[in-house]
Amino acid sequence: MSDTLGDGKLELKQASKEVKESENVAEKYSAMTVNKNSEIVMGELSVSSAAFSAVPTHKPVKKQIQFVEDKQEFSRFPTKAGRRSLSRSISQSSTDSYSSAASYTDSSDDETSPRDKTQLNSKGTNDFCVKNIKQAEFGRREIEIAEQDMSALISLRKRAQGEKPLAGAKIVGCTHITAQTAVLIETLVALGAQCRWTACNIYSTQNEVAAALSEIGVAVFAWKGESEDDFWWCINKCINMEGWQPNMILDDGGDLTHWVYKKYPNGFKKIRGIVEESVTGVHRLYQLSKAGKLCVPAMNVNDSVTKQKFDNLYCCRESILDGLKRTTDVMFGGKQVVVCGYGEVGKGCTAALKAMGSIVYVTEIDPICSLQACMDGFRVVKLNEVIRQVDIIITCTGNKNVVTRDQLDRMKNGSIVCNMGHSNTEIDVASLRTPELTWERVCSQVDHVIWPDGKRVILLAEGRLLNLSCSTVPTFVLSITATTQALALIELYNAPEGRYKQDVYLLPKKMDEYVASLHLPTFDAHLTELSDEQAKYLGLNKNGPFKPNYYRY
Ligand code: NAD
Repeated sequence: MSDTLGDGKLELKQASKEVKESENVAEKYSAMTVNKNSEIVMGELSVSSAAFSAVPTHKPVKKQIQFVEDKQEFSRFPTKAGRRSLSRSISQSSTDSYSSAASYTDSSDDETSPRDKTQLNSKGTNDFCVKNIKQAEFGRREIEIAEQDMSALISLRKRAQGEKPLAGAKIVGCTHITAQTAVLIETLVALGAQCRWTACNIYSTQNEVAAALSEIGVAVFAWKGESEDDFWWCINKCINMEGWQPNMILDDGGDLTHWVYKKYPNGFKKIRGIVEESVTGVHRLYQLSKAGKLCVPAMNVNDSVTKQKFDNLYCCRESILDGLKRTTDVMFGGKQVVVCGYGEVGKGCTAALKAMGSIVYVTEIDPICSLQACMDGFRVVKLNEVIRQVDIIITCTGNKNVVTRDQLDRMKNGSIVCNMGHSNTEIDVASLRTPELTWERVCSQVDHVIWPDGKRVILLAEGRLLNLSCSTVPTFVLSITATTQALALIELYNAPEGRYKQDVYLLPKKMDEYVASLHLPTFDAHLTELSDEQAKYLGLNKNGPFKPNYYRY
């Protein structure tokens, strides 16, 4: 691992090992194209489907890591460096509230802890711990609805009907347990894996979905509203099963990986790889790698191109309006809005607001992003220039103290302030907790902060991520992430010995392209194929990858 983490800077480009495109399993997958009937078909390269029959040759990693229990290292909250790219996984912390994944089931009817209950599924097995197994049928309906917008995973299942690329894989997973995750888990099972699953967030489990998975025999240990103790108990139950040892980890936030390092370091002898989704977990992996303590290959899916674009730009473009509407019922037409930061998230937010007829201003520190904002038709201003006139402030910089107390003092009555960036430090909310200001909780996630002269500022989600706290996340976005995770697992599991070292890797470009191609049939999008002459002219393989790794989409 090169010394790229100095100064707390995460230089992904250098820190991540690029995989030689010609060598990886992805090549076989990405030889698929979409034919005129919108069916996924295989190109010549993959006719023999070596990927699906690859015999894993990975030998146990001998090196033992001495896990240093360092609170900082496994801190639940990302560092500055880790904040730049948020994964869809809202679970930057297992204790962050995550209402968008909230279960529809009223779990308050039964106060008994699931740990104190004896439950059996209809097959008479009890290797699970969920709120109420009787909710399975309701959960099944939710999973079926999610499947409709996750057709890429369904294509993967069909693709593997003959061969099972994950045969023999024993995957232990720690993610949000939602209908969308269930589609992923059931895909992994269809591809041959055995799965044991736990939740990465104590609030986000959909109880009925956990029940539906347990009903079909997936060992799920999770329920909505776990205590901190329950959280670790569930993780432990997933790993510590007599006669069953995981050989793959799918993590979101790094807590599962942390637990294996801490309690079962010998378990890494069997583990072929870790797939990590979140910015926090990825950051931890880079830290381990830098310290020479990472003892298996790890795949950073957080920074794959498709996932980043969908999470940051498209998801925020969809959800900013939803979050604002649900909390305030604000009318957007004609409102003056200032968006702080014109990166991916800022671009998504501004596009949505402009389309609704808002007058949008942008603040930026970067001249390139500022020029982009100008080209896109936005006025680039300093916050102080517009602070007295704007109706809504939205921060999306990944920075701190972007909106200060002094600026909040100058906002007009009834204005709304909210944050779309990862950290709740973008707005100086702490500075509003002073005796002269009154806080009035209007409803969940909505506070009126009242100044002595009666002026009110509407603060949403106490400055935490607005969309993840107050709205839902489109299933289609989650489909991209889930497909990326499934392919990363297949790649790591099937990779011949030596392809991946004990380091953190980015998803190979061809696999990223393949994830995108699997989602094209949803839109009846027809890809143009390169002619031989054109491919030669551009120096490309007709089956991709179509862009160099440094290409900015
Ligand atoms: P980015 O780096 O592309 O954009 C951030 C922009 O903010 C940059 O252009 C930067 O120059 C600018 N900036 C920094 N400090 C500033 C300041 N003081 N004033 C004005 N501009 C400033 O990052 P991104 O992908 O757009 O993500 C932004 C934040 O949103 C991150 O914290 C990220 O983790 C989070 N995020 C949220 C969601 C969500 O669903 N809400 C999704 C993805 C990412």
